[in-house]
Amino acid sequence: QHYLKRIEQLNENLNSFITVSTEEALKQAKAADAILQSGEGSPITGIPLAHKDIFCTSGVKTSCGSKMLDNFTAPYDATVVSRFKTAGAVMLGKTNMDEFAMGSSNETSFYGPAKNPWAHDRVPGGSSGGSAAAVAARLTPAATGTDTGGSIRQPSALCGITGLKPTYGRVSRYGMIAFASSLDQGGPMARTAQDAALLLNTMAGFDERDSTSVEQDVPDYTLSLEESIEGIKIGLPKEYFAENLNPNIAIPIEAAIKEFERLGAQIHEISLPNTELAVPTYYVVAPAECSSNLSRYDGARFGYRCDNPKDLLDLYCRSRGESFGPEVKRRILIGTYVLSAGYYDAYYLKAQKLRRLISNDFKQAFTEVDIIMGPTSPTPAFQLGEKSDDPVAMYLADIYTINVNLAGLPALSIPAGFAQGLPIGLQIIGNYFSEARLLNLAHRYQ
Ligand code: GLN
Repeated sequence: QHYLKRIEQLNENLNSFITVSTEEALKQAKAADAILQSGEGSPITGIPLAHKDIFCTSGVKTSCGSKMLDNFTAPYDATVVSRFKTAGAVMLGKTNMDEFAMGSSNETSFYGPAKNPWAHDRVPGGSSGGSAAAVAARLTPAATGTDTGGSIRQPSALCGITGLKPTYGRVSRYGMIAFASSLDQGGPMARTAQDAALLLNTMAGFDERDSTSVEQDVPDYTLSLEESIEGIKIGLPKEYFAENLNPNIAIPIEAAIKEFERLGAQIHEISLPNTELAVPTYYVVAPAECSSNLSRYDGARFGYRCDNPKDLLDLYCRSRGESFGPEVKRRILIGTYVLSAGYYDAYYLKAQKLRRLISNDFKQAFTEVDIIMGPTSPTPAFQLGEKSDDPVAMYLADIYTINVNLAGLPALSIPAGFAQGLPIGLQIIGNYFSEARLLNLAHRYQ
């Protein structure tokens, strides 16, 4: 009731929820009360939670931030959603996001952008901006997000919360609307690493309905939170701390790293030489996969359908033309172009080779150090409208986050001070399946 009241009071301005499921939430809360009173339940039982509107929820609209799915109610729950249901969590509603998770500011949402709770004229980041804003403004204690190229970490940084992108394959993608399937990964967004650990305990694990989910045991992520970090080797990639790093960001990030040193970690300089290739590589691979994934929206089976189509081609063209926003159309055009017969070798194949080089940078780095740290985002939250007419400027907001997705590694962003009165995030990147270590480092710092 407390959170529903806050949503009622504050969401009109923040626009962080697309759907609020008041009645169902109260029903689930009552059921959770009964379970807890009988002495049963899990640490998640009765905990209110919001899901990014990319996760299918049976009986509750799943829009993916798009006019295309504004009329869509999924007939089934995503695995992430059903795991939380089974654990007794209470779903408050579905959070705002960039259309089909394409964006870094929430401004491509069909429902208008969520606002940054720290400054309402600024973006919350994206694409999981609604989840980040809702957690930061205490409209929910925690939320789910997805990260294809930074969409959990960058909004977490811009709103001053903790967000974790797990190793690719750690969390099931079943029922999570696909953007770029080889990069997409769901994860927790919360106030603290401890809360994120509790959420990940519920989210992670093998799912036979996702062929890329990994069959590996899930540790209890809360058990190692207090472990000592004495002697851990932290690498600072020189490419992340080059002269062009905004000093407003560099100062608090360096102060945060000093704190890890104080806690016993050793700091080393490392190099990720192909860092500058990550943005161009990602913006070939992700659009290629999205152009294929989004071909299912044809106006025939579900989603938006244009009025009075003349013939089949008109149905396809107008249903898609009238309901996809400009960023989604741009990605589909780029994707079909780079996959086309004459250009495949020059763009898509080349990008796949660069992807391998970027992964190899990390492989090499993890022979020298245990952990990599740097800023999550090159700037604090920017003004609404500041980059919305300049796609390349928007894509550059992702320079520190997307190489991690290309390599499939886990990484988290934690609040690390302020720049110009706005929160900024420290990014902690680990080797495959090192989520427990990442959460441990974050917890010790917090
Ligand atoms: N900003 C990136 C993009 O627009 C990442 C989005 C994401 O991680 N879903 O593609």
